Amino acid sequence: MLLEVEGLCVNYGHIEAIRDISFGVEEGTVVTLIGANGAGKTTTLKTLSGLRKVRAGTVKFDGKDITHLPPFERVLMGISQSPEGRGCFPGMTVLENLDMGAYVRNDRKTAAYQADLDRVFDLFPRLKEREKQAAGSMSGGEQQMLAIGRALMAKPRLVLLDEPSMGLAPKLIQQIFSIITEINAQGTTVLLVEQNAAQALKRAHTAHVLETGEIVRSGTGAELAGDDSVKAAYLGGDV
Ligand code: ATP
Repeated sequence: MLLEVEGLCVNYGHIEAIRDISFGVEEGTVVTLIGANGAGKTTTLKTLSGLRKVRAGTVKFDGKDITHLPPFERVLMGISQSPEGRGCFPGMTVLENLDMGAYVRNDRKTAAYQADLDRVFDLFPRLKEREKQAAGSMSGGEQQMLAIGRALMAKPRLVLLDEPSMGLAPKLIQQIFSIITEINAQGTTVLLVEQNAAQALKRAHTAHVLETGEIVRSGTGAELAGDDSVKAAYLGGDV
């Protein structure tokens, strides 16, 4: 198991945002956490990135306990995140943003670095066309692509994607999910947090439903897509 989360509890003051959740992410797979607003999806990803303190429980990555490790050390180990709401550096160009994603690497300006940059541009040709454009002047969809591309520039083994489809037009949503499948096919393990349950379940090997900070249902993506209560609550009756 690449990532093992055991009995994780996270609070904001007295609010228990995450209550005793446990799940694993097998190397090479796509795992998704679906849930409504406020279910705790973003908090879970932030905690895995090291941005939120754990109240109880453990997180292991590649067999090592990383529960209390600072964020940059997690990036060095191979975990990187594309945050909710894009989070690009608006005054910097596309290329500069991508370079920021690679700041932990010691092979910048080498062939390996260039190969990863080319990989990002292959996945997102739009970014190549706009490499000298300021990130802040790009459309929401383009900034979302940039945030994912930036996360990939850290050369992660596990990429954490927080609602990559948020606010995008339907056509672009399809495109983003296809790219997530492609990123996984190229060997990167993906933990995907989504409100777009239909798309997320289609792409995921394993899925968990988060409700008010607890995992209430788990299965393969196909199993949960066929589950009556999941259909009623998250899929509007169809997939
Ligand atoms: P959304 O899809 O709306 O982003 P989410 O599933 O990602 O929702 P979280 O953002 O993780 O949910 O929030 C989980 C709970 O923690 C919510 O009840 C939220 O109000 C609370 N919460 C989140 N951030 C804070 C904060 N900085 N201070 C206090 N409470 C917070």
